Amino acid sequence: MFEISFIPAFKDNYIWLLHRDRRAFVVDPGDAAPVLARLEADGLGLEGILITHHHADHQGGVAALTERYPVPVFAPAAESITGCTHPLFGGESIEVLGCPVQVMAVPGHTAGHIAYLAGDRLFCGDTLFGAGCGRLFEGTPAQMVASLDAIAALPLATQVYCAHEYTDVNLRFALAVEPDNRAIQARLAKVAELRGAGLPSVPSTLAEEKATNPFLRCRENDVMAAAVRHGATEVSPVAVFAAIRAWRNVF
Ligand code: ZN
Ligand code: FE
Repeated sequence: MFEISFIPAFKDNYIWLLHRDRRAFVVDPGDAAPVLARLEADGLGLEGILITHHHADHQGGVAALTERYPVPVFAPAAESITGCTHPLFGGESIEVLGCPVQVMAVPGHTAGHIAYLAGDRLFCGDTLFGAGCGRLFEGTPAQMVASLDAIAALPLATQVYCAHEYTDVNLRFALAVEPDNRAIQARLAKVAELRGAGLPSVPSTLAEEKATNPFLRCRENDVMAAAVRHGATEVSPVAVFAAIRAWRNVF
């Protein structure tokens, strides 16, 4: 299996660098410059690019990278992606540095958003974040709940490589939703320590997310009650999710 490291970009993006035997892939290169610098510094040759969705902070570096390295670009078929050579819908299996990778359709943040699952490592773009989830720019709450349910069905040990460092503020919101949740309190302390040391709070495990992420906890009594206090008129998972997501947008 390949190794994974991160390339920070912009204010809070992570570009994931997958590498093995001097060969590399990157996930969501919103900016080419830090990727080119890192490939050079580490003596790696780029062999492919994985894109989760069309937002500029995820695909903005593709043109410059493919100019230097004419490599395959795997990307959502349903979205407009610069230089896409391998359009994907979800359900496919592709090969990355000799490893099988499953493609999952996870619409919600955008209409064609996909995620990549390599063994127990999940590259989920802006669908699931540490203790949070992406805003619904194009999809419906029902779509996002179905996408999050598909992720939640993966093994608990799955490592969640999301694309932004949002965990701290997300946990503060999670604690507003569930003030008595000890796992959230403990994770807040852990993340403060990591961030204080200049380290990323991701990847997390799916087990951690299920214990602390309100958007994966829409069937928990405390989350349902909080949703009702914030406008949910019923406690179906979709209605609870929609109310919590709307509350998060103004938190
Ligand atoms: Zn996005
Ligand atoms: Fe993003």
